[in-house]
Amino acid sequence: LGQPVRPGEEIVYRRVRVFQGKILTPEELKRCLEDRLCLYTRAAAVRVEGRERFFFKDTRTAQAFLRSVQQMYAVKWDQPVSFREQVQVVVRDVPADRVTSVEDALAAVRRGIEEKWRYTVKDGDTLWNIAAAQGLALEDIIAANPGMNPDRLSIGQVIRLRREKPLLTVIQQYEVTKVEPIPFSREIQYDRRMHRGQVRIVKRGQPGKKEITYRVTVENGVEVNREVIATRELSPPVKQVERRGSRYLLASRGEGRANLGWPVSGPILSGYGMRWGRMHTGLDIGAGYGAAVSAAGSGTVIRAGWYGGYGRTVDIDHGDGVVTRYAHLSGINVGVGEAVGRGQVVGQVGSSGNASGAHLHFEVLINGVPRNPLNYL
Ligand SMILES: [Zn+2]
Repeated sequence: LGQPVRPGEEIVYRRVRVFQGKILTPEELKRCLEDRLCLYTRAAAVRVEGRERFFFKDTRTAQAFLRSVQQMYAVKWDQPVSFREQVQVVVRDVPADRVTSVEDALAAVRRGIEEKWRYTVKDGDTLWNIAAAQGLALEDIIAANPGMNPDRLSIGQVIRLRREKPLLTVIQQYEVTKVEPIPFSREIQYDRRMHRGQVRIVKRGQPGKKEITYRVTVENGVEVNREVIATRELSPPVKQVERRGSRYLLASRGEGRANLGWPVSGPILSGYGMRWGRMHTGLDIGAGYGAAVSAAGSGTVIRAGWYGGYGRTVDIDHGDGVVTRYAHLSGINVGVGEAVGRGQVVGQVGSSGNASGAHLHFEVLINGVPRNPLNYL
């Protein structure tokens, strides 16, 4: 040890008479004392949360040990470190064999200490939710409870739990400043002169920059918390302006050729216009009962159901004021709000509502007014 020791018991010297053969040589006396005497030495005890965990030969060594633990876990050399636990160094006499070296004590800190407790199984518990709630690995619980059947827990059953816990927790708090982007917003302008799906970037957006200062807390080298303590805008983001096409049809007020597809193929039984003194607002296309009716263009379903004399009806909004209507259906395949593609089956030909026989009544409405579908097909 390189320092004075004293015996734990008092040694008394007395003059007695013995036989010659019982007198010990100095070497024999030494061996005898080593076996029987507990030697005490003055040592520096390190108390963690009130419990003496380590003994060093002096206070300086104890302090060097504590500094080494802090260095072992520190992430920022230039920032202060502290222990989460209450740590004290006290000087007292301890059995000499309990004094350790700094290296051995550091190894013990790295190993940690085992924490043990018990858990009583409650109604509805599974081993998995117990493990999750207690922050343990399932295999560790199984290993700590030999003979337990993990699939059959009973209420009131006591389970042994244990975990390795660090003996000392080194805390470091420091600030970091980072430059981060600020996302830009978009302004969308719809343009009737451009086709749907076309996008033109009028003004390109630029992310801004902000400087954020965080306070970071690290425990034994692991980041456990990061809070924003200051934010400063370095440059504002620039909004992106996009122009998107909203034109679905070519201008087709009778003169142009448009791009709606035929919803069913068949003869035109009755055209758009006056019929027996009444206006016929659509096209009657002959097709067999149950024939598939497909969307004339892509759009959004705005009606799907019974609609008076039209019977079962589907209306599709194609944007730009264009709506197509499919009436007298026997079945409907789509729902209101559903996006449909051109050619997608929306229902079946039938004779529901005011219809004399199976046919499709097809309408094209521009801004709510029925127009001659033939100008758009
Ligand atoms: Zn009709």
